[in-house]
Amino acid sequence: MAGKKVLIVYAHQEPRSFNGCLKKVAVETLSKQGCTVTVSDLYAMDFEPRATRNDITGALSNPEVFSYGVEAYEACKKRCLTSDIVDEQKKVQEADLVIFQGKLALLSITTGGTAEMYTKTGVSGDFKYFLWPLQHGTLHFCGFKVLAPQISFAPETASEEERKQMMASWAQRLETIWKEVPIPCTPPWYFGQ
Ligand code: ZN
Repeated sequence: MAGKKVLIVYAHQEPRSFNGCLKKVAVETLSKQGCTVTVSDLYAMDFEPRATRNDITGALSNPEVFSYGVEAYEACKKRCLTSDIVDEQKKVQEADLVIFQGKLALLSITTGGTAEMYTKTGVSGDFKYFLWPLQHGTLHFCGFKVLAPQISFAPETASEEERKQMMASWAQRLETIWKEVPIPCTPPWYFGQ
């Protein structure tokens, strides 16, 4: 889909890792479609994930007792948020599709455990349970429509052939990603059946 803007939020330390390869495949596949792809490489950027006073430039409303919520709200109105936050907010606002690629994120994630471990009767329980706080609690709550997650199970213990297969199915999915309908992000999707 030419003209679409895609933001990939990427969190992995090693560019030559499986995660790095999945990111590369996404950039290549989507760029070939004519999309404008931006990557926020959080480790390379040394992105500050903590919510601290440094996020607010200029004077605090109440320097005696620091309340992050109040100060961030005020700073946002007065445009006094630090530039690394504002830059990322702008990227999210401009994007038609946001892909989170990393251990902590969703949509496209890799696991340590196998697919069997992430079933209802497996040791970890259904993988959908893990997606509830991120997909529903964070993304849906913040106004995103959520597409089905892309989960690559246990690439570390998979064979080279299986890894290639996972990479290929990711690339194949991206070919038609713009036609996908979001999941019904409600409790039954996560906890039903
Ligand atoms: Zn939801």
